[in-house]
This record gives sequence, C-alpha cells and structure tokens, in this order.
Amino acid sequence: MGGKIRLSVNFTAGECVCLESLFAYNTRMKITGNIAKLKTTLETPVKYQLPIADQLIDLNPFIGKTVRLQYDGVINCVSCGRKTKKSFQQGYCYPCFQSLPECDSCIIKPELCHYHEGTCRDSAWGEQHCFQDHVVYLSKTSGVKVGITRQPNVPSRWIDQGAIQALPIFRVKDRLTSGKVEMIFKQHVADKTAWQRMLKGETSDADLLAERDRLHAECQSELSDIEKELGDGAIQFLANDQVIDIEYPVITYPEKVKSFNFDKTPVVEGELQGIKGQYLILDSGVLNIRKFSGYLISFEG
Ligand SMILES: [Zn+2]
Repeated sequence: MGGKIRLSVNFTAGECVCLESLFAYNTRMKITGNIAKLKTTLETPVKYQLPIADQLIDLNPFIGKTVRLQYDGVINCVSCGRKTKKSFQQGYCYPCFQSLPECDSCIIKPELCHYHEGTCRDSAWGEQHCFQDHVVYLSKTSGVKVGITRQPNVPSRWIDQGAIQALPIFRVKDRLTSGKVEMIFKQHVADKTAWQRMLKGETSDADLLAERDRLHAECQSELSDIEKELGDGAIQFLANDQVIDIEYPVITYPEKVKSFNFDKTPVVEGELQGIKGQYLILDSGVLNIRKFSGYLISFEG
C-alpha cells in the first residue's frame, strides 16, 4: 500500500482521540486549533493529553515518533477568546491580565491575599477558590521545594513542575494561611529548583519524610504562633501521608536543554523523546506547552 491515506474523522468536543488505529495504517494526523496547558493524569507513567480545538490528543503514543507543531501567528486569550498580539501570564490578553482575580499577584504570592481589605478583584471568585482547603507540600525535582496548592489541584500541580516525588505536609483552611506556612518553611529550605536540570533528569537524593520531620521540628514555634492567631484546626499536620512517586514517559533525557519559543521559531519539529512537567522533550529541543496557552497551533504527528 503506497502513498498517503486520507482519513476523515469527526470528533465531538472533549472526546479523547485514540490514535492507535490510525498508526496501524502508518498515516499522520493534523489538527489545528488553540492549545492549552497539557492535561495530566497520574498513572505510571503520567498520561499526557494536549487540549487543542476542543479535543484532547493522547500524546504518549507519539513518543519515539516525529511530531510537528506550527504556530500560525494568532493568539486568543484563554479567558475571553479575543485576539491578542502578546500573551500575558501564560495565555491572557492584557485587559484580562489586569482585571481577573486569577492573574492577581496574590495568586503567585498567597501570603499577599488582600481579600480582608475588601480589594479582592472578584470576591465571589476568591471565596470559591481561595477560601477552601489548601495543601502545603514538599516536592522533589532536581532539588526540594516547598509549595502550596488547592486540594483539587493535587497531584497535577506536582506533575506540572516535573516533580518525581511529592509529600503533602499540612492541610490548611485557606490560601492566605497556606502562604503564611509556606513563608515560614521557605526560610528553612534551600528551594533550589532549575527547570533545565529537571528536564535533564537530574534528581536529588533527599528523603522527603526526613525533610518534613526536620522542618516540622524547626518551625514548631512559628507554626504555633499561627495557630494561636487563627485558632485550632487552622493547620492540620498530615503525619500519616506517604511520599507519592511520579514517573514520566521519557525515553531519553537531553544532555543540553535548548528551549523553543514560537514567537521566534514558528515551526517546532522533531522526534518526541518524552514529556515531563509541561514540556515536550524533542530530539531538537524542548517546548513549554503551558507558556503558549492560547496560541493557534497546527499539530501534526
Ligand atoms: Zn482576555
């Protein structure tokens, strides 16, 4: 059977595209649409899907195969959809970046939560997203890091970082409290993580359980100050939680990390060596998919 076979497949929105049947005929697929950050599922190894044009492409089957992503010069805001020349904070247009609560500085620095001052950009959003249980955790990439996340974002938050292990330490009642605990811990953790080292597959041999116990002991008085201020139950130590191991679908880690940028290089092509964090690792360089959320891309593979 020579030449290309043209297949016409109708997908419904959100449906998962199973490509094994397409590979059987050695044909390639092409989809064009706005992309979003990789969707992840904690399996062994992690399952990755690329959201594009209301579809989800299973990416793991492409590992070891050639893929091509072409940027067509259009960015649509991930929130309002309007065309924007430049993307702010990984996919927003400037007006959304300036006005949405999820783009406020307190999202990156939760200890700066200003809801109590009456200045939350959207108090309903704040109540829904910030006034619910948060987890303070330790994660391990090339080093050990302290972080916080909302309960529903466990474990995708760790996968997005490319962490190979994670350990929840505290459950706290809201975002501001998680920020306060994080600030205390950060004074006792080197917090040296580098995405290049993460992508090279470099790891640390730190023991997260031992690290947790060390921090818990060292921070005892500061933690009890917070409890006095916020009341019993504001902070719950997760003494029985175990380390979660995360394995990534990677055949070969790069020796040197060369990073692609669609703004400078509209065509990214190469053999997919693996996926880790939010990065596609190609034999020609790495691509941070999350950074290009909202970009109009033609995916071929
Ligand atoms: Zn917008």
